[in-house]
Formats: sequence, C-alpha cells, structure tokens
Amino acid sequence: MKLTLRSLRLKLAVLYTVFALISMVCLGCFSYVYMNYALETSRQVTMQAREERFVRFIETWPEKDKTLSLTEKLDRLSIAIAATDIIQVYELDGTPIYSSPGASAFKVPWPHQPCIERCFGLVRQYGHSIRTLNHVVTMDGRQLRLSLSGKIDEHAEMMENVRNSYLLFCPLLLIASAAGGFVLSDRALRPVRQMTAEARSIGIHDLKRRLPIPNTSDELQVLAETWNELLERLHTAVSRLTQFTEDISHDLGTTITVMLTTASLALHRKRTAEEYRAALRTITTECEATSRLLQDLLAVTRADMVQQHIDMQLVPLSELVCEVADNLRAKANLKHQTLQASIASDAWTMGDPSLLRRMVGILLDNAIKYTPEHGAIAVSITSDLQHIHLKVQDNGIGIAPEALPRIFDRFYRVDPSRTQEEGSSGLGLAIAQWVAGVHGAAITAASTPGNGSEFSVTMPLATEIPSAELISLAAEQ
Ligand code: ADP
Repeated sequence: MKLTLRSLRLKLAVLYTVFALISMVCLGCFSYVYMNYALETSRQVTMQAREERFVRFIETWPEKDKTLSLTEKLDRLSIAIAATDIIQVYELDGTPIYSSPGASAFKVPWPHQPCIERCFGLVRQYGHSIRTLNHVVTMDGRQLRLSLSGKIDEHAEMMENVRNSYLLFCPLLLIASAAGGFVLSDRALRPVRQMTAEARSIGIHDLKRRLPIPNTSDELQVLAETWNELLERLHTAVSRLTQFTEDISHDLGTTITVMLTTASLALHRKRTAEEYRAALRTITTECEATSRLLQDLLAVTRADMVQQHIDMQLVPLSELVCEVADNLRAKANLKHQTLQASIASDAWTMGDPSLLRRMVGILLDNAIKYTPEHGAIAVSITSDLQHIHLKVQDNGIGIAPEALPRIFDRFYRVDPSRTQEEGSSGLGLAIAQWVAGVHGAAITAASTPGNGSEFSVTMPLATEIPSAELISLAAEQ
C-alpha cells in the first residue's frame, strides 16, 4: 500500500516521535534540575560541616593556648584547614576582623538578611560562580558574623557538560526513535495490509475464501475473524440467492411449459367445452401460483428498500384474523383439515390492516400446506393488559430442531424439493417476520417433527380502543 501523508503508519510514527520527544524533554529537564539540586545540597552540607568545625575549634582553643588573639587563632586555623572555602569574619556592624588568604581574589557582597540562622547564597563574580554561607556565631565569647565562600565552577562546568550532551544526544535519539516508530508501526500494520490485499482479491464468485487470521490475540485478530464471519454470512446469502434464482427459473420455466403445452394441446384440434374449461383451469392455477410468487418477491424487495407504505391505524385484530381464517377454510377443506378459530373479542392493535392480513395469511397458509390431509389447525387470540397473543398451531409434519432457527431466513425451505406448485418460495416467514417487526411485535416458532408446529406472535395492545358507536360507524362505511 502506498505511503501517503494520511497513512496510518506515518501517523503512528509521528505520534510515537512526538511522544518520545516530550518524554526526552521531561526526563532531561528533570534530571538536569535534580542533579543541580543534588550538587548544591551536597556543597551546602559540606560548608555547614566546615563552619561547625571551625566554630568548635575556636571555642576549644583557649584551653590549650590563652596568649593568642582571635585573629591569630583564625589565621592558624585557616592554614590547618584545607583552603577550599574562603573564611571571613566581621563584627556585627560589618567591620572586617579576619579574611583568610585568597579573600582579596573576590569580594563577596554582604547579604541583606541578618543571618542569625545560616543563610546560603549564590553569587557570580568575574565569571565565577560562588556559593556563600553567612551565619552569626559566638566566637571567643563574642557574637560575630562568619562568612564562608567557595567557587563552584566545577559544578557549573559539570552541569554545562550534562546540558551539552543532552543537546547532542537528544536529536540523535529522536531520529532513532522516529525510525524505530516507523518500523514498529509498519510491522504492527502488516497484517492489516495483508487482510486488505486479500479482501480486495475476493470477488462475488470466490466468497468461500477467507482472510488470513493473525495469531496475535489482539484487535486485529478479532477484526479478521469478524470479517470472516461476515464473508460466511455473505457466502450463505449469495448461495441461497443463487439457489433460489435457479429454483425460480426452473419453476417459472415449468409453469410456462405447462401453460404452453396445455394451450397448444387445446388449440391442436377442436375440443369439447369441458376440455377447454379443464385447460383454462390448469392455466389459471399456474398463473395464480406464479402471481403469488411474484407478490412475495415484490414484498421482500419493498421491505428491503423500506419503500413499503405503512398505513398505521387502529385495527380490530380479532375480526381480521376471523376473516383470514374464513377465507382459507375452503383451502383446508380441500385437504379435509379442520380449521378452528378461538378468538377473544376486542383485540385491537395499531397497525397496517393489509400487512397484518398478509402475516396471518402466511402463518395459516403454511399450517395448511405443511399439515397432511385430515389434520387439525387452530388459530387463537388472547390478550392481557399490554399484549395480544396470536397463535397458529397445527399437527403437521413439524420442523427439525436444526432447521428451526433458519426458517425466518429469506429463501430458506426445509425441503427445497417442494415446488411452486405448493406455493413454496421460502419467503413467507421472512415477510411475516418483517411485518411483525414493523408493528413492534415478536414472532417465534416451536415445533416437534412429526407432531406439528406452533407459531406465536406477541403484539402490543392498542391503548385507545374505539367506542362501540365508532366501531358500528366504521362497520357501516
Ligand atoms: P415457504 O414458502 O417455503 O413456505 P416460508 O418462509 O413460509 O417458506 O417457510 C419456510 C420453511 O419453514 C418452509 O419451507 C417449511 O419447510 C417450514 N415451515 C413453515 N411453516 C411450517 C409449518 N407450519 N409446519 C412445518 N414446516 C413449516
């Protein structure tokens, strides 16, 4: 795949680099500040220890030699002590009493604070950094100001080196992490590229192929598995559609052949009126079956495109179901079946009467179709406070448990050998389910092979039931 500015690989690499840059800057600043602080503190601790030692020496001196003045003692002491810090002693009014050798090299300004407690300071003089300690102490029985000061140029130099090395290494590290980020994102997205290439090469004719699943136990693996499940569903749907198209072509071909042959035979020579009627009956039956099939196909297409006009109104479901049952009773009688209706009165629902009629018709028609001669079919309506329960039961051939979850799929027929002759297209229950769906109803099926099936529809009960006058007015119209 081509690398563009919008490519995910590049975006990830840039993000990674920005993150690395921010981390480096934060880490660099923190370690610089911390190192500076540590060096400062250690120097202050050393100065404080030196100051304490100094005062202790002066305080213990008189016991050994009482002839020396304070200045002489200080002089001797500063020779004995390593000359790391310059020692200066002042009267409290600022009059200098003592300055150790080297003090003239720099003049440390007197701090503004009284420095009763120790006060540390940092002074820059003649290009040097000087750390200072001022403290009012008691020496030789007097209160004096003791001032220690020492160059900390090595510290400044060390910090400068650290800073320079950061400035040198940070860009190098940044380049390395940018390259690393790019390589890592490139590797991480390799399975996506493979999947994309594979998905691109899968056409409608090879839906059996599957995407490679990276064994990474991460989101990419889930994505590949999800795509494969989608392909599986697509494959099933396309196979069913192909099968259905073949079946339909075959059925329509058979119908047209039957009609053509019947008509040709009838026209071949002069026939009796009864023979003509028989030929026309055959043609009519074929036409009816074909028309039913075309209606089903149209209903499915419309449902798909959500173009179906749904005319929601208060519907007397009890009446509607009785009407459909009455219409189909003749068909059941042809097979010597009994069709019993046990309908609670006043079951009103909000819906489209023609769609509801179609749904009930499909369920009853199936019950008749899939129940052998002399079977029994029952349709019932009950209601509770919120719902209407419509049940269509039969003691027909039943549905195998493995087929039961699929009967609402489009074009699914448990026994594909049933032909258009029986009006079997595999679309009826799909339409019924769609009708139930648009009415906020749920449709379920239960069945025992050999014992029969039961289809239940649970629909919302209409909240407003029209008054008796309105019902009779509607009946008159
Ligand atoms: P068809 O046009 O084939 O009847 P349907 O979608 O209405 O299509 O039904 C799908 C399949 O479910 C049918 O092919 C049939 O095998 C099964 N089926 C539906 N209703 C019943 C029933 N009452 N008894 C037994 N099988 C049924």
